[in-house]
Amino acid sequence: MSGTKCTRLNGALVKQVLDSVDSVLFDCDGVIWRGDQSIPGAPQVINLLKEHGKKVFFVTNNSSKTRKMYADKMTSLGFGVREEEVFGTAYCCAMYLKTVCKLEGKVYLLGSNAMEQELEAVGIQQTGVGPDHVFGKQNDWASVPLDPEVKAVVVGFDEHFSYMKLNRAMQYLIQRDCLFVGTNRDTRLPLEGGKAVPGTGCLLQAVETAAQRQAQTVGKPNHFMFDCVASQFGVNPDRCLMVGDRLDTDILLGSNCGLKTLLTLTGVSTVAEAEAHWESGCSERKGMVPDYYVESIADLLPALQG
Ligand code: PLP
Ligand code: CA
Repeated sequence: MSGTKCTRLNGALVKQVLDSVDSVLFDCDGVIWRGDQSIPGAPQVINLLKEHGKKVFFVTNNSSKTRKMYADKMTSLGFGVREEEVFGTAYCCAMYLKTVCKLEGKVYLLGSNAMEQELEAVGIQQTGVGPDHVFGKQNDWASVPLDPEVKAVVVGFDEHFSYMKLNRAMQYLIQRDCLFVGTNRDTRLPLEGGKAVPGTGCLLQAVETAAQRQAQTVGKPNHFMFDCVASQFGVNPDRCLMVGDRLDTDILLGSNCGLKTLLTLTGVSTVAEAEAHWESGCSERKGMVPDYYVESIADLLPALQG
């Protein structure tokens, strides 16, 4: 590829890049773990970065866990992590509703118990978590009982998503002053062996289609995730590296926030896709081209051990 983007990060360049930053943001799935297993070498990389005095944070679009659940998972996998260093969309969504939307009222939640807990932690009540029940006959559905205190519909990962929930969300969103927020737009969640399942983006698009409205989203590539980290820990974007496996979420977030960006090839995106974005000449697509790439974040180990 011509130009200076998407350079393979190895040899002396690793130390040079690490010396140029004080903070490193890691995406989770596909970067530090895959499903329930850590990427080989990832715990050592994180722990050594910390020993070298770097601030390390975790930014995940997965809304199905609280910060505490992530910290517990990471600890069991050998990562030395504090809850405060984890920024998942369940937590960030609650922060967004509280600090940006200044929501006064309840949320109609299409989401998990984890989201319910993070909302509760900032003093926001929800209704809707868990399965919904069929209400009457089709003619009654537009008059399904609504909670007058609900002032926002929030869509995250909801394994109980159903037609009745979609209908209820639509009835709330017909009220124009009802806020509409989604955690993230990832449409496919890759699994081992080339398999995949539908992501939250599919649910969000269904609600958007029904409501004929667009949601605001909190997760990557929206800069709110970085704003959350930066406001709590005083991160300087010029001296921060974003590490991710997806060009359209992680790398674009890094570009949107003026961070250095590193693509790791242990997850979704490929160098060929990055090259196609670069060669398109389209400025929007260029935001999805990383500064550097590695096969795995374990490639950072020699520079940290030396
Ligand atoms: N959303 C859900 C529900 C997921 O299960 C995952 C990955 O497991 C993601 C999003 C993507 O997470 P990340 O941003 O850590 O890659
Ligand atoms: Ca990922």
